[in-house]
Amino acid sequence: MSAATTRSRTPDRLCAEAVEFARHAAVAAVGETAVGAHLGLDVEGDRVVTHYFATTEKAYRGWRWAVTVTRAARAKQVTLDETVLLPGPEALIAPEWVPWSERLRPGDLGPGDLLPTEADDLRLEPGYSGDDEPAPNSVLAEDRLSGIAGEDVAIEPSGDRVAVAPETERAEIASVADELGMGRARVLSRLGLNLAADRWEKEFGAHSPMAQAAPAACVSCGFMVPLGGSSLSQAFGVCSNEFSPADGRIVSLAYGCGAHSEAAVMPAPVVPAPPVLDELSLEPLPLHPDRSGGSVEESTPAEELGHS
Ligand code: SF4
Repeated sequence: MSAATTRSRTPDRLCAEAVEFARHAAVAAVGETAVGAHLGLDVEGDRVVTHYFATTEKAYRGWRWAVTVTRAARAKQVTLDETVLLPGPEALIAPEWVPWSERLRPGDLGPGDLLPTEADDLRLEPGYSGDDEPAPNSVLAEDRLSGIAGEDVAIEPSGDRVAVAPETERAEIASVADELGMGRARVLSRLGLNLAADRWEKEFGAHSPMAQAAPAACVSCGFMVPLGGSSLSQAFGVCSNEFSPADGRIVSLAYGCGAHSEAAVMPAPVVPAPPVLDELSLEPLPLHPDRSGGSVEESTPAEELGHS
């Protein structure tokens, strides 16, 4: 027996000795050429043993034929249970299956792809739909208010009187919800906000190498467009500088880059002083420095013109 993987339990002697019987069963199932050497056996239970044979199929390297044999209590004859091909420890097998939702990575979505969001996605929570409220001028609203002018109560189908917001107040709530972007089926939950903020902060945050080397932060940059309608506006904005690596991206207000609008104010060009025309004083000019021994002689304009 070679490379046996016999378990600690003692195998049934007759079943363990039925190697040739098991081989014949494997050959009968898959053919002579596909069955290799006997690799060992496993004890499956009382009087139940599985014999392993190498497979010679090149496509199944490391796999082995598993032939399970057994015998009845007090019986001398070993019988065949089953013959299957199983992967061994060295077998090349497919990796464990992972659901697509766990395999998906940012950027995998292509044109035309659909990515359904789970109904219970924790990144989202219900927005203000107004479905629970009748339209301010609808018949239903009038029925509910039951003609009780000036009172903030409505009559439920059960006949109970319940407090409700006045019509105008409900209309205002709906319009404010629309204005804040809450008039959608679902909006970002606090978890969704935090996850987005963490992601953006990681890519375009204060700790990035670009921000560390920046002369100033985005909060003071003229190219930063503030976000609106979200608490995220307190920490993030949008970069609109085409020369910045963050152009069109959400940036932390503590981020920054060398293209900051005030980073390099160009110095004003130096304006040379206008030439001075001095026509009132005389300027000494040596005409013959060699005759005067190199000394500078003062001369008048008349001397210089030869009228001495
Ligand atoms: S140009 Fe640079 S500093 Fe200005 S908003 Fe964009 S990333 Fe921030």
